[in-house]
Amino acid sequence: MSRHRVHLIGSDSWIDVASGETVLHAARRQDRALPYSCLSGRCGSCRGHLIAGQVSYPYNPPQALSPDELRAGEVLLCQAVPQSDLEVAIREVDAIRGIPLRQLDLRVAGMAQLAEDVMGLSLLPHEQAPLAYLPGQYLDVLLASGRRRAFSIANAPRSDGMIELHVRRVSGGGFTEQVFSDLRPGDILRVEGPLGTFVARADSDRPLLLVAGGTGFAPIKAIVERWLEQPPARRVQLYWGARVATDLYLESAVARWANEHPWFGYQAVLSEQSPDDTRYRGGLVHQAVLEDHPDLASFDLYMSGPPALIEAGRHAFVDAGLPADRLYYDSFDYAPDVLASLIRARQGANP
Ligand SMILES: Cc1cc2nc3c(=O)[nH]c(=O)nc-3n(C[C@H](O)[C@H](O)[C@H](O)COP(=O)(O)OP(=O)(O)OC[C@H]3O[C@@H](n4cnc5c(N)ncnc54)[C@H](O)[C@@H]3O)c2cc1C
Repeated sequence: MSRHRVHLIGSDSWIDVASGETVLHAARRQDRALPYSCLSGRCGSCRGHLIAGQVSYPYNPPQALSPDELRAGEVLLCQAVPQSDLEVAIREVDAIRGIPLRQLDLRVAGMAQLAEDVMGLSLLPHEQAPLAYLPGQYLDVLLASGRRRAFSIANAPRSDGMIELHVRRVSGGGFTEQVFSDLRPGDILRVEGPLGTFVARADSDRPLLLVAGGTGFAPIKAIVERWLEQPPARRVQLYWGARVATDLYLESAVARWANEHPWFGYQAVLSEQSPDDTRYRGGLVHQAVLEDHPDLASFDLYMSGPPALIEAGRHAFVDAGLPADRLYYDSFDYAPDVLASLIRARQGANP
């Protein structure tokens, strides 16, 4: 079987990539901790810079990169398949290295409708050891058909292994519709995790901005819960964007964090704010961040939520001076199998 070698310059390490394999897949197989999120080529979390060699994109196209970025040597490692030996500049996420990836059964211990279209699930390990993970990581729910659906773990690790998910109902969505209609306490979900690299980096004392859209609050809640146990030595400001006030599920907990912890601040931003409700700020959440902080050069910024927020935010924040390597995000894209079908359908419509 033909294979290529890839030199990861950030950590001065080498990986072997099998024929047809993506660089990211090979890296994860060999316990390298490259950053990634959507695994579909859309979000750009796994972006690296190609110093030498050639890649192809036989699966999904590298949608997160503009033609100029591709010409400048940027590569998306979740989709890039080497056509030669490569040299790639990318920084690994040391914190996640060594945490075992496992499949396990979780029993639905509780369900609570948190908002009109958000279901909170409390899951306990079913006759197995708890899942080890870092706050901010996600898991895949494994479906009978071999497909998988990603959900962020919404709580910091607990000794009983309880895992909380916040599942937004997607209209026409195979799994999330089922959560609202068929799932019952006592049911078992097979999951694989932990996944993702959206975890707090310990290498900075800069002030921190957290930006969540909708259920993008879930991984941020897990990260903040860890800080409630071990307060950070820096100021943390959360901006949570939603459509209307009732979408800000669990807001009373967030208000309590802000009241009780001087290092934590909170701002809610509603895109469909009613004119007579002055408790909230109106507009788009990433624009509110920019209004308050037109120069982001001295911040670190973590953001999670729908792809439209991530796409708008990652360009606007870098344009406002945030160094790209201090912007961390999880983009809540649909699963790779669905995105691949949508891309094929679009290509069929525009041959
Ligand atoms: C890292 C990560 C973390 C995430 N965390 C969360 C979280 O904490 N909470 C949360 O709510 N969400 C989260 N998401 C998003 C979540 O994974 C998706 O919303 C979920 O996968 C939808 O699954 P589904 O089976 O219900 O919908 P799917 O069946 O995947 O369908 C999605 C949409 O695509 C349409 N569709 C499906 N197949 C086709 C096709 N062949 N052609 C045309 N249209 C099609 C469906 O009608 C539907 O509208 C996360 C995503 C990622 C990548």
